[in-house]
Amino acid sequence: MTRASAEAEHRRFGGEHTRTILDGIGGTPLVPVDGIWAKLEFLNPSGSVKARLAAYVVDRAEREGLLRPGDTIVEASSGNTGNALSMVAAVKGYRMLVVMPAGMSTERAAISRAYGAQVWEVGHFHVTEALEAAKELGRRPGYFCPEQFASEWNVEENRSWLGPEILSQLPLGLVPDALVTGVGTGGTLVGVGQAFRAANPDVRIVAVEPDESCTIRCGEIAEHPLEGIADGFVPEIYARHSDEVDEVVSVEGWAALEAMRELARIHGLFVGPSSGAHLVAARRVRQAHPDVRTIVTLFCDEGEKYLSEHYAAESAAPGAAT
Ligand code: PMP
Repeated sequence: MTRASAEAEHRRFGGEHTRTILDGIGGTPLVPVDGIWAKLEFLNPSGSVKARLAAYVVDRAEREGLLRPGDTIVEASSGNTGNALSMVAAVKGYRMLVVMPAGMSTERAAISRAYGAQVWEVGHFHVTEALEAAKELGRRPGYFCPEQFASEWNVEENRSWLGPEILSQLPLGLVPDALVTGVGTGGTLVGVGQAFRAANPDVRIVAVEPDESCTIRCGEIAEHPLEGIADGFVPEIYARHSDEVDEVVSVEGWAALEAMRELARIHGLFVGPSSGAHLVAARRVRQAHPDVRTIVTLFCDEGEKYLSEHYAAESAAPGAAT
């Protein structure tokens, strides 16, 4: 089917108010996992929490006249945001350019390409070079760059959509005592944190980062397996709002991966490494602060992209080499 015939079909089935895959974004379940409330964001279309951000920024940019038919959306991302924006661009008929650091997983680039996006590799493992390139392109006519690591729109999406949604799903009378989540852009931590703080001024806002690359706590940058968080710099959003964060917990890569596999095996939650890290950190917060009872965390992306890297070896039965 060509884009023109897809658009014709959309018109036939409801004109402007056509239903699309984007209607499936949000409304994800909030479930208790080992006594911790987990928001299952990996169930969003395109497989991650970033579907919300992508839908929100594109919609807002359209309304504010920053994005017009025929334009190109450009964003620096090594993963989920690139995939989510590629999906939204496909549905809405924009061109999409994902700027990725060279050397990152080919799977993610392939997913964006499957949604029809162009992928441009710059630098080598350095997200900052990709960021600069995307920002610079975004200033040109016909381009729009959401600047996910810097833009307050990211915070506003989380404060006005994801945060209130979680609050509405907690059992009647319960308010969160703690929010525990990793920092990629910091948008989830800060925005959902602000929504929670409005419901409970004493809420504990806890950032999670890998022990191997504890950039926020100790300024270190190193390789680590928790893709999606700790990209090797302190993002502008986090820096601007760091006084809203009560504590930073670091989690060892191996502990996060072990918890990730436990989530699939014991709870049927097939998720990525950051979700494992979030669970480990949430348990540590519970242990360190007995007064903190209602803890909320997020399982941000699904496990499929990590199959060969982090699941395959585990699933081989002992002695199955023959
Ligand atoms: N986990 C995963 C898997 C992610 O892709 C991201 C976003 N990069 C996060 C957690 C953190 O989200 P945020 O960008 O809002 O800090």
